[in-house]
Amino acid sequence: MRHKHLIVPVSVLMILLVSVAATASIVIPAADKAKENAKAPENSPVIDERWGLERVDFIHYARPENPGKGQKAATCYKLLGVKWKTLPVSYVINPSNPYNMSEGFVTGAVSASAETWDAATSAELFNDAYSVDYSADYGVQNFVNALAFGDYPDSGVIAVTSVWYTPVGKRIVEFDMLFNTRFAWGDATANPAVMDLQNIATHELGHAAGLDDIYSTSCSAVTMYGYSSYGEMSKRTLEQPDVTGLQRMYGP
Ligand SMILES: [Zn+2]
Repeated sequence: MRHKHLIVPVSVLMILLVSVAATASIVIPAADKAKENAKAPENSPVIDERWGLERVDFIHYARPENPGKGQKAATCYKLLGVKWKTLPVSYVINPSNPYNMSEGFVTGAVSASAETWDAATSAELFNDAYSVDYSADYGVQNFVNALAFGDYPDSGVIAVTSVWYTPVGKRIVEFDMLFNTRFAWGDATANPAVMDLQNIATHELGHAAGLDDIYSTSCSAVTMYGYSSYGEMSKRTLEQPDVTGLQRMYGP
């Protein structure tokens, strides 16, 4: 599901800026930072006044009992209409998590997800060399593409990816990803009772590349299908519609 945040009139922006200035001195404990950042998109349009960027958030939900048929999709892929114009895209992983996943496991799962998309286009989309930063936060517009675990205040939400882009030129300039710690995470090949990190990261990186969610049940096999559940691993590998969508943006 998409929540698009559009530019607000200057007068409203001034009020927002004043209220931000008034509350800027509140110190947020480190443990609550992810929660605080996660709340931001629900509360107000998120606009960076320096760069005039727009932001869209992709909320990945747990599969409901009856997901419905969704809209009939002709193609099983959908482009956001924004994409990266400067490649490769580098990213920073914060491996800190409450589920005893090692740094090596987390970086391995995320980089495997990135390479899955890379392998489907001759463009070098995601940089093979990622970095690890235990202070990297989700939801901070700083031109750093950050992936982190944190508490998102909705137990039906598995993960969120935010994408910032220029309204003119439709150029993606940043993405951030949050894996909601209200779900148990891990490797579903070893334990089917967990949310598979590589599975979800591959879906979310599709948003980071410029692909939208697909909710039609006739397309439920594709990586960009909008729902997931514990133990699911089918999104680790791309289906033809995912590849077609990617290649329409970055070439074969
Ligand atoms: Zn999604």
